[in-house]
Amino acid sequence: MTDLTLPGAGEASEGSATALAQLPAVDRLLSDAALAATVAAYGPTLVKRAVQAELAAQRARIREGAPPPSWAALRTAIEERVRAVSASRLRPVFNLTGTVIHTNLGRALLGEEVIEAVAAAMRGYCALEYDLAAGGRGDRDELVADLLRELTGAEAATVVNNNAAAVLLTLKALAAKKEVLISRGELIEIGGAFRMPDVMAAAGCRLVEVGTTNRTHPADFERAFTARTALVVKAHTSNYAIMGFTASVPEPELARIAHAHGVPFVVDLGAGALIDLAAYGLPREPLPQHALAAGADVVTFSGDKLLGGPQAGIIVGRADLIARIKRDPLKRALRVSKLTLAALEATLRIYASAHRLRERLPTLALLTRNQQDIRAACERLLPAFARFAGPQFAARCEPCASQIGSGALPVERLPSYAIVLTPVGRRSGRLLGELAHRLRALPVPVLGRVQDNALWLDLRCLQDEAALQRQLDGEGAA
Ligand SMILES: *Cc1c(COP(=O)(O)O)cnc(C)c1O
Repeated sequence: MTDLTLPGAGEASEGSATALAQLPAVDRLLSDAALAATVAAYGPTLVKRAVQAELAAQRARIREGAPPPSWAALRTAIEERVRAVSASRLRPVFNLTGTVIHTNLGRALLGEEVIEAVAAAMRGYCALEYDLAAGGRGDRDELVADLLRELTGAEAATVVNNNAAAVLLTLKALAAKKEVLISRGELIEIGGAFRMPDVMAAAGCRLVEVGTTNRTHPADFERAFTARTALVVKAHTSNYAIMGFTASVPEPELARIAHAHGVPFVVDLGAGALIDLAAYGLPREPLPQHALAAGADVVTFSGDKLLGGPQAGIIVGRADLIARIKRDPLKRALRVSKLTLAALEATLRIYASAHRLRERLPTLALLTRNQQDIRAACERLLPAFARFAGPQFAARCEPCASQIGSGALPVERLPSYAIVLTPVGRRSGRLLGELAHRLRALPVPVLGRVQDNALWLDLRCLQDEAALQRQLDGEGAA
């Protein structure tokens, strides 16, 4: 404390006018030695704004009868404001929702070697679109095209911003102003407003619905062709399953029908695993290489779902069709950055090496985490969660089922374990809401899911157990 003197919070003020007059001027606060470290760390602009905002708040409080603040309280409040406006909005969180590839929480996690590749691309110049052998302009897709050809068996490949963009671009480049045939059962909506009929409209294509919701037969497709048909599309129904009395046309047959009518066959796979997940004890997911082998001319899939890489939309297939797709002006608008390409190349290299995938792909590690390990973590953290929740909650460990997420493998669940906090007594809905809110208000917010009148914290995706433990212990029960 320097020359600044304020009455302590305990001293009575002689009415708000006197108290207001006792508030220091902005410049006096800014030049005070006690705030010098904050000014040095954050710069004078941010600190000045925080000082002004805090003084305005104090004036409002004083007018409502509060005493003027102590210098220490004022300083703490100003520092708090500076920290709050400087903190990233992209807050890290503990994902205990049980959904591994969670779109709202950033989908796939990248491995260290992938992160290093991105960091290197950010720090310096790189041969992004530069052919070092020829000494001239190159094609940025070539950074990953060889790897994609090798991994999927496709003739050619290109990359755009996400799979929605991949589908939009493919439709526009191959079928604008023409008719596109798709089964009624595949008119999918993916979270975040990806609706197949809307994407078709945005691409300028006329959607022709074939068959019925639950059953589509080869003859339905045969009947739907006209002189204006340009494409047959199959969309992987990635976030739901139609069960019971169903029929769909298998890919090889659909490919044969499309080719007999002289039009390409496009498959939107969505999740896009590159390896057989059954080998890891996971449910089997269709692979782009299988769709191509079954006769698909073009296949699209996401980079940040089961592939476990960065957000991207990958388009693989016949060389002449990929060339048409790359020539479309929309491709330029949807192209990916060097950061995406660096991450995608490093991720694909992991698959190409086929070596220690679970250690190098964090998403795969989380998906394949053993239920007994998760249970052990639940038992270790149970006391801390019980203390944090307080006596109004019963805390126990329970088996549960994680979800893969992002529409991948919709009906499949992964056996997991959760800490379950159940309110005891009345007003349980409000108690649950308050507990969930307190967990979200922690420095690293903890996100679970409310189900059956309890808060479920599935620990499958918990990475830093010690940090969570410390955070819960630091807070204690309310
Ligand atoms: C997820 C998904 C999309 C959209 O992919 P994004 O990468 O989220 O843009 C499109 N089609 C299918 C079948 C999907 O599963």
